[in-house]
Amino acid sequence: MSRFTKALEFVPAVERPDRLADSGRFLVFSGDQAVLMAGTVTCLWTPSQIQAYALDSQVQETMMLGYWQGVPIQVLRLAEGQELSGVQHLPLRQALLGSDALLQGLLARAAQLLRWAQDHRFCSRCGAPLQDSATERLRCCHACHLDFYPRINPCVIVLVHRGPYMLLAQGQRFPRPFLSCLAGFVEAGESVEEAIHREIHEEVGIYVQNLYYVDSQPWPFPHSLMLGFEAEYLSGDLQPDGREIVRAEWVHAQAVVDTAPPGSIAHRLIERHRLRFAHTD
Ligand SMILES: [Zn+2]
Repeated sequence: MSRFTKALEFVPAVERPDRLADSGRFLVFSGDQAVLMAGTVTCLWTPSQIQAYALDSQVQETMMLGYWQGVPIQVLRLAEGQELSGVQHLPLRQALLGSDALLQGLLARAAQLLRWAQDHRFCSRCGAPLQDSATERLRCCHACHLDFYPRINPCVIVLVHRGPYMLLAQGQRFPRPFLSCLAGFVEAGESVEEAIHREIHEEVGIYVQNLYYVDSQPWPFPHSLMLGFEAEYLSGDLQPDGREIVRAEWVHAQAVVDTAPPGSIAHRLIERHRLRFAHTD
């Protein structure tokens, strides 16, 4: 299922309305935490809620994200440790996984741009302070004329299948022991397809064929774009590398195992495979 059913439901924009609380809806972050009314897009803050909590005076950074169905959407970052009563303060991962598709997209966009803005204050070539462009999502160095665009790290995530079986693995860095799809970053100079073949062979020692693109998901930890694929098993025996992958198994589509949580692209890839074999042996 794609995150946006209609093309251009959300239109990015940089220029914001003149006054902070003039119009539209707001995402609010306090430090790295999302401050939410609830886990749907209806939880976006309204101008009157911004005023009721007197957030104008606590804001450290504001950023225009764009227009959702014509409504301007901005993000506000409050000072770290700012606690507001009567609302949820959630770690970003928890907020993302608990949100509907639209809010998940907005949260991922806001978190990545805020982090990028925090981490790009000075030119990495000459050290001069950077200035926001008024018309584009970029920061420029007026001293040496170098431009800095938001950084995105492409990352492949692949469900490998072999008939009704799917290859699931437990990563060394998972927050708890569960099984998921194989994933890894695309290296400089590498195509997405090359990255898939390399990562799978490096991590579990097998070869695949017939790559098929399924879906994508921005994943702001801190700047990933997950590119979701399926691939068919071709040859080789499973040999987890023991470093990044501690366990790898062929799991039947109907088997009950603890897998990646709902809201993640891994979960969508796994569910897609399960559905395909929902009524077969
Ligand atoms: Zn410079």
